[in-house]
Amino acid sequence: MPDPNGFLRYDRRLPARRPVPVRISDWREVYPPAGEELIREQATRCMDCGIPFCHDGCPLGNRIPDWNDLVRTANWDAAVESLHATNNFPEFTGRLCPAPCEAACVLGLGGQQPVTIKQVEVEIADAAVARDGLRPRPASVSTGRSVAVVGSGPAGLAAAQQLARAGHTVTVYERDDAIGGLLRYGIPDFKLEKQHIDKRLAQLTAEGVRFRTGVEVGVDVTAEQLRAEHDAVLLACGALQGRDTPETPGRPLRGVHQAMAHLVAANRVVAAAGDGKPALATLPDGTPIDAAGKHVVIIGGGDTAADCLGVAHRQGAAGVHQLDLYPQPPGERDAERDPWPTWPWVLRNYPAHEEGGERVFAVAVQEFVDDGTGQVRAVRIAEVTVEKVDGRRIVTALPGSEREIPADLVLLAIGFEGTEEQPLLAQFGVTRNRRGAIDSGPDWQAADGVFVAGDMHRGASLIVWAIAEGRAAAAAIHTYLGGVGDLPAPVDPARQPLAAR
Ligand SMILES: Cc1cc2nc3c(=O)[nH]c(=O)nc-3n(C[C@H](O)[C@H](O)[C@H](O)COP(=O)(O)OP(=O)(O)OC[C@H]3O[C@@H](n4cnc5c(N)ncnc54)[C@H](O)[C@@H]3O)c2cc1C
Ligand code: SF4
Repeated sequence: MPDPNGFLRYDRRLPARRPVPVRISDWREVYPPAGEELIREQATRCMDCGIPFCHDGCPLGNRIPDWNDLVRTANWDAAVESLHATNNFPEFTGRLCPAPCEAACVLGLGGQQPVTIKQVEVEIADAAVARDGLRPRPASVSTGRSVAVVGSGPAGLAAAQQLARAGHTVTVYERDDAIGGLLRYGIPDFKLEKQHIDKRLAQLTAEGVRFRTGVEVGVDVTAEQLRAEHDAVLLACGALQGRDTPETPGRPLRGVHQAMAHLVAANRVVAAAGDGKPALATLPDGTPIDAAGKHVVIIGGGDTAADCLGVAHRQGAAGVHQLDLYPQPPGERDAERDPWPTWPWVLRNYPAHEEGGERVFAVAVQEFVDDGTGQVRAVRIAEVTVEKVDGRRIVTALPGSEREIPADLVLLAIGFEGTEEQPLLAQFGVTRNRRGAIDSGPDWQAADGVFVAGDMHRGASLIVWAIAEGRAAAAAIHTYLGGVGDLPAPVDPARQPLAAR
């Protein structure tokens, strides 16, 4: 029986982040482990609600009150089992998820701080590694059916694991030189050290999943070849078409880049250093892209922008400004606008923000300013108001509010416009919709025998949604292949995050 008064006795507490001067001198994760005593105390705050709204916040349907209580009572093996029943990769979500489950925790209704669900999750995930090193669970019988998974992000990997464990032969095709999708070269090590991906890949490999890196489907191998070799195909190619701002004067200047170019280059340097091969941060054509000694301006206010900020600090930027089109959000949930248990619009301070830099809200770039040699030297910004009129965003600059911010390196982190236009789409007979995503039927099929999941289907979203969609698409593929029994399908293709009706 869970402790009904735990939240009255204990305040919400997280482990202290590593000190800023220490952590910006390396690329290690910001959070140290919580330790058993703290995490058991925090798990005690869970009330085991009759209707646990945390479940509604999480698309995976994680059994949160169950594993909170198992941690409270130090029943770690059962906690590991319970967590993995719904989530293939809790070490990723436990580190990276913005935790919509916490926004939906019933404690928030009474003005209390939510249970530290995400921290409990990561501690259980790490306990799994410590206890049995992620023991492989290969299928006992092969179905003789074969599936190609295109794209090795969390959606593709979750589907691959589900299908391999159900006895299908699974091959994952990835155009990059390493497996992991955005987890590998998009998200920096200070949020997710890559050892966590490698440990999971060892488990997937032992479960029979085959990986083919450096293979771009649609170019190096055609859709026709894939269809001939496999009984079903899952497309999980992400939503990597970065939004740009071609109309802004000065956009072609040197030093103005997509944020992903900066993040991928930095991640590759860290990976090379880990392999004992020091490298410089460069674009694929060899152009250097490093923040060291530079005035950096990051345009955008989301995850990608915060990751660029943390990278810029670690590379030794002279100064960083982060610009946001929208006004500064409130510090607390506005119950009129976003009633509990929906995801609130509030000011989100990522660990990168306590490391330095200046955030500037309600401004828009009017021009990237040339230093006379074709290199950016500043951005000219204006204060703006933003309104929605007939669903369209109208941005109005306030007269006389323009000013310049020095900039040697400008990073565009203004979102993604869906999956990339690439040869694979026409070859499989699928087309991007208005949002740049690929639609599917209720059984996740986008074309006959071709399924779609993750950001490629949903548009740029979250890891937790990618895993949920990968699991659900795997269930649909299993049925399509005539597999015995049902695999878990936590979401259907139309499922949306919790919203006020
Ligand atoms: C910088 C950044 C930071 C983020 N931080 C967070 C965070 O902290 N928390 C969170 O929950 N979410 C975060 N996200 C979002 C999250 O990473 C994505 O929602 C998630 O990775 C989507 O998973 P996916 O499997 O659908 O696609 P992806 O992870 O994008 O993987 C798609 C893969 O498909 C491959 N591919 C594409 N085309 C082909 C082809 N033709 N042949 C072979 N391979 C191909 C790509 O190379 C890529 O590896 C972040 C996103 C970005 C960009
Ligand atoms: S809503 Fe919060 S308190 Fe209730 S079961 Fe979920 S985590 Fe525990």
